[in-house]
This record gives sequence, structure tokens and C-alpha cells, in this order.
Amino acid sequence: MEAVRHKKRKRSKPMKDTFKTFGLSDDLLRAIELLNFKAPTEVQKQVIPALLQNKDLIVNSQTGSGKTAAFAIPLCQLVKWEENKPQVLVMAPTRELAIQVREDFFHIGRYEKLKVLAVYGKSPFRPQAKELKQKTHVVVGTPGRLMDHMEKGTLDVSQIKYLVIDEADEMLKMGFIDQVSWIMERLPKGLVTVVLSATMPEDIKAICSQYLRSPLLVTVEEENTAMDRIVQGSYLVEPKEKLSLLKDVLIVENPDSCMIFCNTQLQVDAVCKALDHLHFACEKIHGGMEQEDRLKVMNRFKGGQFRYLVATDVAARGIDIENISLVINFDVPFKSENYVHRIGRTGRKGGDGKALTFATPSERKLINEIQLATSRDIPHLDRPEKAQVVQGTLAYTEKIKTAPEAKVAKGDAINQDILKLHINAGKKTKMRPVDIVGTLCAIEGISSQDIGIISVQEISTYVEILNGKGEMVYNALQTMTIKGRERKVSRA
Ligand code: AMP
Repeated sequence: MEAVRHKKRKRSKPMKDTFKTFGLSDDLLRAIELLNFKAPTEVQKQVIPALLQNKDLIVNSQTGSGKTAAFAIPLCQLVKWEENKPQVLVMAPTRELAIQVREDFFHIGRYEKLKVLAVYGKSPFRPQAKELKQKTHVVVGTPGRLMDHMEKGTLDVSQIKYLVIDEADEMLKMGFIDQVSWIMERLPKGLVTVVLSATMPEDIKAICSQYLRSPLLVTVEEENTAMDRIVQGSYLVEPKEKLSLLKDVLIVENPDSCMIFCNTQLQVDAVCKALDHLHFACEKIHGGMEQEDRLKVMNRFKGGQFRYLVATDVAARGIDIENISLVINFDVPFKSENYVHRIGRTGRKGGDGKALTFATPSERKLINEIQLATSRDIPHLDRPEKAQVVQGTLAYTEKIKTAPEAKVAKGDAINQDILKLHINAGKKTKMRPVDIVGTLCAIEGISSQDIGIISVQEISTYVEILNGKGEMVYNALQTMTIKGRERKVSRA
């Protein structure tokens, strides 16, 4: 196994610090620019050139390091657009991560017109199967649902050329390793495989040595880890006092955005209800909620539409939300690693953060365990004084009068450049992508370069117009015919 150890440098040579050195397509460079990725991260500097050379890789790096783009960028370049069957398979341990990886992949491959699909459990099977029937380049999924689709023949893996196993150690912990092996057994031979794992337990090593060919090991050592940047503290508090402590801490700390973690769904419900009562604008996420609702809440929180999110550990892992200034552990998590994941929601991408933990006398031993496991001190703090709370109330009331700062979603710049149109004709009326392309290219100033993903469904067709030309096309289509007839065209 070749090993590349790369120590994060404070300052790198500007010439090397650009995505242009990788020989990426103009479409990819444009998406990268609009995503505002100024320079490749350390893991990207290692992974992008190696994967472009079709090397198997074992990548040891944390979330927040830019690891998703590290594999998505070269894979978007390597995928052949003409092939209808999936060429890239990404396995992720959780639905949330699968959805996030899909989003990142989709944005990066947007100008390459790549169709990226996420499939995961607790979500209807048939719509996913229907989507899989259409041209799809990349499938991201949780192992159980991927297996289901493979067993039922709704996912054709015969053209898979690239396999990514994201958060492999997490797969192992969650008991998915047999499913991962089952899937790998059934993929075509000679694949290029990328395994991403924060740790290297024996079972993962075994999989790597069984399936990977002379893999390159990429290890990125962070000099300044998130743990070092996050200010930590704990309060000793009686259970019945936790709510009033929460209220005082929220007023005194007055965070712009805050996640409050509880150990159970019941506790999340109770805390959310209590905060609501006190007029703190909060919403909640836990595993008992429908997937759709969880996603909606997460997106609203990501967009900065409310300030306090109360959640169980389902929202603690790998999820990428910018600028959370404060994490509160309303309950101490039972496992130290959950503590690390929870507090890692703050201090992202080199920023500062704060994590405060409420421990009852019986939870104190858990704090000691966390301190030992993380080799970090969690200093004991005194409860805010009444005077501090009174003093903080003014600033707090001022802040809640203003809406939280709207955060720019990752793909916003790309989305602004693209308009998705709906045409009320589809397969039933024998509409084909070529008919749409023909019509659009007849509009003055439009070429195939301006046409994005076309999705022909039963009675509708969706088409993306790129390069800010959407309005122009929309207006033109109001009076033009498509396949011999005028069609109703609207903004999707
Ligand atoms: P990940 O490690 O994949 O969870 O990525 C963490 C965050 O970094 C995501 O929001 C990415 O969109 C973002 N990101 C990835 N690559 C870059 C880059 N080169 N420059 C700035 N942000 C990046």
C-alpha cells in the first residue's frame, strides 16, 4: 500500500492552489467557481489527481474536510454522459448523508448535465425504481435500499465503473458491513473503489485488502482540529432545573443559531414545546418524524429561517450546516463519539464555536468519560447570575426582533443561473429529449450548451435552461410549437 501523508500547510504555493491544475473540464470549473470553492482542500489535492488516474483509494479524513467534493469532482469528469445505466455507486450509512452527498454531486455535475439519484429506506420504493429506469449517471444510497433495488432488478449495476464507500467505519458500527459485502460481490469486476473512513478497524481493512488493487492511502492530518477551536463548558444542574437553565443560557449567550441536543425523542418534543411557550423560535428533528418533514426542517434551518433547532442524535452526524454558533447538550450523550459529532456541528470550516453541556449529578460520570476519550477538558461553569440574565435580556430581545441572517444555500449561485421549465407533454404524447433540443435550438441565441438536464415523464417534461437564458426561452416557448403543437410551458 503506497502511503501519502500530507501535513496541512498554513500557506501553499499559489500556483498549485487552484482547481485549474487538475485538467478539469470547463463545465466542472464553472460549477466549482459558482459553488465558491476558491482553492482545493488538502484532501482534494491528494484525491482528485489520483482518482482521475483511476486509482483505488483509501481516504482517511473527517467530514468538513471537503471529502465529498474530493471524489465527486473527478468522478463527474470521468463519467460518460452518453451511457444510460449508472456508472457510479456511492454507499452512505445514513439517509441524511446519502441526500447530502447527492446534493453535492448534483451541484458539481450540474453543467455536465449529470443525473444523480439518492435511494434510501423509509421512503417509497416505486418512485425510486421509476427514476432508476431513466438515464442515471450516479446513484447514492444506503446499503439496505441499494440491496433491495439490486435484488428486485430495479438497479442495473452492469455498467458501474466506480464505487465509493463513504464513512466505512460508520457502516461497520451500524451493522451494515454484510450488506456492503453483499453489494460488492455483485458489482462488475475491475471497478475503481474509493473507501473513506475516519478510522481503520480490522473489518474495513479486510474489505480493502479483498477488493482494492494497490490502493493509495491518503491521510490528511489537520493541524487545527475543530475540537481545538470549540470552546467547551458544562453546567451541573438538577433535572427539573434544566429548562430554566436553558432559557437563561440562551438569553446570555444570545446565539445567532443554535442546536440543542437531547437523548430521546420525548425529551426533544418536551424541550421544543417549552421553548415555543417561551417564544423562542424553534423547530425539532428526531427519528420519529417522517423523512420529508425532517428534510424540510433541516433545509429551513440551513437557510437560516429559524434560530433554535432541538434534535436527537439523528441530526448530529456528518450533516453540513454553516455557522452554527452554539451547541447545547441538554442531555449528556451516552457515547463520547456522539458528543464529538454533536459539538462538531459548530466550529465548521475553520470557524469558532461553542458547546455547552447540561449534566445532572448522575450524568457527571459521562462527562468524565468524554473528557478521557477526547483528551480535552470540559470546564465546569457557574450558572449565569440573575443580573447577567437581566442584562442580556435587552440584547436578546433586540435580536429576536430581527430575522436570523439568511444563509446562502450551497447551490444558490448555480440555481440562479439555471431555470427549470415544465412542459405539459411527455412520453404519452411521444415526446423525446431530441424534440425538446430541436425546438430550443431553433430559438435565436440558444445552443445545446444552454440546455441542461431533460427529464421526460409520463405526461410532463422538465428541462433546465442554463447560462441565465431561462427567461428568454420561457418567453419564446409561449408562442412556439413543440413537436407540431403549442404546449403549455411554465416555470417548474
Ligand atoms: P465535506 O467534508 O464533504 O462534508 O465538505 C464540507 C463542506 O466544505 C461542504 O459544505 C462543501 O461544500 C465545502 N467544500 C468542499 N470543498 C471546498 C473547497 N475547495 N473550498 C471551500 N469549500 C469547500
